[in-house]
Amino acid sequence: LLQVSGLGISFGAHAALIDVDVTVGRGEIVAIVGESGSGKSTLARCIAGLERPDVGKLSFSGQLLPPGRRYRRPSQIQIVFQDPYSTLNPMMTVGQTLAEALRAAGRGRGDVGPLLDTVGLDRDFATRRPARLSGGQRQRVAIARALAPQPELLICDEAVSALDVSVQAQILALLGELRERLGISILFISHDLAVVGEVSDRLYVMNHGRIVEHGNSGAVLAEPTHPYTQRLVAAAR
Ligand code: ATP
Ligand code: MG
Repeated sequence: LLQVSGLGISFGAHAALIDVDVTVGRGEIVAIVGESGSGKSTLARCIAGLERPDVGKLSFSGQLLPPGRRYRRPSQIQIVFQDPYSTLNPMMTVGQTLAEALRAAGRGRGDVGPLLDTVGLDRDFATRRPARLSGGQRQRVAIARALAPQPELLICDEAVSALDVSVQAQILALLGELRERLGISILFISHDLAVVGEVSDRLYVMNHGRIVEHGNSGAVLAEPTHPYTQRLVAAAR
């Protein structure tokens, strides 16, 4: 579904991404893991068309996205960030937020009920504002909003990192269900190896802007070959 090859971007003298190759197949959950500052969000932003890479190729659904130009993110790619509080309008009820997302997606007067069902929120949450939601519920709303345009790829950039462990597990379970039910692909970005191991089929390890190791998540976590991954795995034990 998604192919990233030879992607590079620098901010001034700082190379944030160097020769990055990543693929995501249809229905796959692929993780990017690496410590803070390793370039994970920059990669997500390049894929989502929010940042313009200096070099490299991005292709999505068989279509080449031109480098050297900021492109309009296809609605088939949606992103969910760490802090839904910063992206949800505090003045709007959940129902209004989702109705607006459906309208923006050309899904007219779509009923927000099914969207709430999809993310496991009772329909009476439609009348609440973000301030009256827990962190996990807010993140469910952010995911519901991202699903409104019926994306093929959902990028989750540290989407569970601010949640406590039991709520994290619920959101991870939800992502697994979305993949099963909707056949959606997920690029799951996290600095937390334990979380990544739980949710992903394959993973890429990022260090100082480079992918240093990739493979099936189980195999990489059981037998990391790169010294950096070995340190990460040891630290997570
Ligand atoms: P975290 O786990 O903290 O979210 P990250 O892996 O997502 O980290 P990035 O946010 O991608 O890391 O940042 C990678 C590097 O690029 C950092 O050194 C950051 O300071 C730098 N960087 C990112 N965006 C910009 C920008 N717009 N201008 C200048 N430097 C930037
Ligand atoms: Mg980041």
